Parts: sequence; C-alpha cells; structure tokens
Amino acid sequence: MSVATMDTDNGTLTLGPPTGAGGDVSDQRLLGHHDAGGGNLDDHWAQYGVLLIPDRDDPPWRESVREAVSASGLVGRGGAGFPSARKWASVSASRRRPMVVVNAMEGEPASFKDRALLYRSPHLVLDGAEVVAAVVGASEVTICVADDNRSAAASVEQAVTERNIAGVARFRISVVRPPAGYVTGEESALVSWLDRQRALPMLRIDKSVALQVARRPVVVHNAETLAQLALIARHGPQWFRQVGTAEAPGSTLVTISGAVRDGAVFEVALGTPLIDILRGAGVESELSGVLLGGYGGAWLRPSLLATPYAPGPMTAAGATMGVGVIVALPAGSCGLAETARIARYMAGQSAGQCGPCVYGLPAVAGDLEQLAAGQEGPDVVGRILSRASTIEGRGACRHPDGVVRLVRSALAVFADDARAHAAGRPCPGHAGATVMRFPQDTTAQRWAS
Ligand code: SF4
Repeated sequence: MSVATMDTDNGTLTLGPPTGAGGDVSDQRLLGHHDAGGGNLDDHWAQYGVLLIPDRDDPPWRESVREAVSASGLVGRGGAGFPSARKWASVSASRRRPMVVVNAMEGEPASFKDRALLYRSPHLVLDGAEVVAAVVGASEVTICVADDNRSAAASVEQAVTERNIAGVARFRISVVRPPAGYVTGEESALVSWLDRQRALPMLRIDKSVALQVARRPVVVHNAETLAQLALIARHGPQWFRQVGTAEAPGSTLVTISGAVRDGAVFEVALGTPLIDILRGAGVESELSGVLLGGYGGAWLRPSLLATPYAPGPMTAAGATMGVGVIVALPAGSCGLAETARIARYMAGQSAGQCGPCVYGLPAVAGDLEQLAAGQEGPDVVGRILSRASTIEGRGACRHPDGVVRLVRSALAVFADDARAHAAGRPCPGHAGATVMRFPQDTTAQRWAS
C-alpha cells in the first residue's frame, strides 16, 4: 500500500502503510481510504458496513457489547492504557443520565494520530461514541477538538451533519472547541473545562468514581479507542485479536518523526519490534536514541530497538507507549539538549496549581539547559535527580511525573554525554536544530479561560 497524504492546519501529514508483525495488519483498519477530510457516510458504510445499534434500551445487546469489548482486551489509546469496558461501570450505576465525551484534544505536540483519524475516518469515531452511549444509557455525545485544530473539527462536524441529514444519528452529538494545550487533554482537566470553562486537572484518589459535568456522570474515551471499539462491535473480539499479541491484542496508531524518511501516522500491529516500525517509516541514519510515548514519555537506547512495541515489553525496557509517539533521534543530535527543550516546553504547560510543577519543572529545565551547554559543574546531574525525586508524585495530575520520567531516562540513556557535558565538554550537537515539534504558542497559559 502506498503512503497517502492529508492536509492539516500545519501543512501536509503523511499516512504511512500499515506495519505488521505478531500478526499482519493486512490493510488499514482505522484510517479508511478517503483522500479528503470529512469522510462520507456512504463510503464509510461501503468500507466498514452498517453498524446496527438498537433504537431502544436492549439489555442483551448491551451485555454482548460489554463482553465483546472485555474479551477483545482493548485498552485506551489515549495514554493511560486503561481497560476500555471497565470505564463504563461507574456511570452505568448512576441515577443521572450520563454523557459520553470524545477526547480528541491531542495536546501532545508530536502526536497527529487523532487528528488523522478524525480527518480520514470521522464516522468510525462517531460509531464508537454511539455504541458507548447506547451501552451506558447516555443521551448525548460531546466531541472535544482543540481550538487550533480546524481541519479535524471541520471533518467531524461534516460527519455529524451527514448523519443528521441521513436521519441515522441516535444521540445528540455536539462538537466543542476547548483551548489547545498539553494539559487540557488530560481527562479530568477536559471535564473541568466542560463543567466550569477552566481546564484544571483534578486530584482523583479513586478513579472508579465518575467525573461529572453539571452533576451528570461522564465517560471519556480517546478518539482512537472509540474507532477501535466500533470495529470490535462490528467484527467481534476474535477478529480484533487476529493482529497483535495475546497480551497486547490489536493494532494501534503511531506518529513517527525525526530521522525517518516518512514522518507519518502509521497503523502498527502491537508486538511489532520497534526496529521494524522504524524501518517501515524509512529510518535514515544511525540513531542516538528514540523518544517513546511523547514529551512525558521516555528515551530508549538504540541497543533495545528489537523490543516489541507493546505495553509490557516497553515498560520492561524502561520506556512507555503513551500516546503512540515515536521520535527517532539521529546520531550527532544531543539528547540532553532535546530533553532540555522538552522540559522547558512542559514547564510552560503546567496548569499552575501545584508547587512541585510550578516551581520544580522550570528549575529542572534550567538545570538541563545549563548541562546541555556544558555550563554547569559536576554536581548538576545529582541536583537534577534530587529535584526529580522532590517533584514526583506530588502534582494533582501526572504532568510533572511524565517530565520526571523523561528526564531520568535521558540521564540514563545519554549518561556518557551527561558526564562529558558536566565536565564542560558539550557535544557539537547541543546547539543544533531540534527534531522535536513545538507549537508556536508554547508559553501561553491557555488551559484557563
Ligand atoms: S501537577 Fe502541574 S499540570 Fe497537574 S494540576 Fe498540578 S500544576 Fe497543573
């Protein structure tokens, strides 16, 4: 299959061919075959088939969907990796009518998978949202697309209109545009914005207690999770498990960038060795490291590139899958300088309500910048690690913990560089161009309106 492209607000985005191992992804499951945004309901039905959802409450159908999704082993594709069907228990028990929220905020700057999905296959996401709404007894679906993501919003709005005109929308579906920002896509921050127009993450001791909007329980799913769910509702759990591994079934979307020929969104079978995924994207040079998961993810050393791309093996290798971001860092680039840039960006994205995040992250970013430039003494690595320990676990959300993980992994993967930089010998790459992507507006506190 050839590589296709799509237009986005940020230029052209490539959609790569599917990459399979541990079972082949013989065709794109998720991204459809449309070349233009907005989908088309007839094309969607022609490709995927009509999805039958009962008009009225149908307990046997509800139970069959729950069982199918549980048996499929689908876990959320938004970063937390939570079993999808388990999210429904807390809202189903409520006496108030639940809401379904589609989280397509994609605040991670290096990720394009959800906007690719909404652009190419919006009806698949809507199908999944309608399935969840019918299972939990919701009356409406709210789709959240960041206010800087016009293409995806226009695509899904067009798809909603098509369903309304065709008379097949079973629920009231609205598209809302929260302010773009790294933290705004965090589940509790997004619900806070829907409830109070302020995207502030909430400390959640017991995650089995449902989040609420106007005192109504809310179930939040990532856009890709819903698209996967729509296919499971059609084809069943055994079909879903035809790719991937027993422990990590199915396929997933990844955004690959950096030292690759085709920076692109790819669909890959879980369990595919990371090196095969990078080869599929046309890795172009020797690598000094690979950033996995996103800007709150972790660095992986090149010697571990045979690791299967699945949650268990990635965790065992010290990395994470996060939101499916893979950035290949070419040899000669400075992993410490890249980490300092990311830490500075992440410090600017704090929601500003927890001390370790507000004061700790800028301090870590400053130390890293000094280290990368070779302007600090030998104590700087110990000081960074000490700050990391002080920060970890003390925020209301996991934002600072992600930065801590990334920084610790950088100091481990680039340990030789760190020693040389701390001794006043920075590598030539520290002042080179970044391979990371940062939004223009990196410092504005756009999470609170
Ligand atoms: S940890 Fe940081 S981002 Fe999370 S709520 Fe606190 S200040 Fe905001």
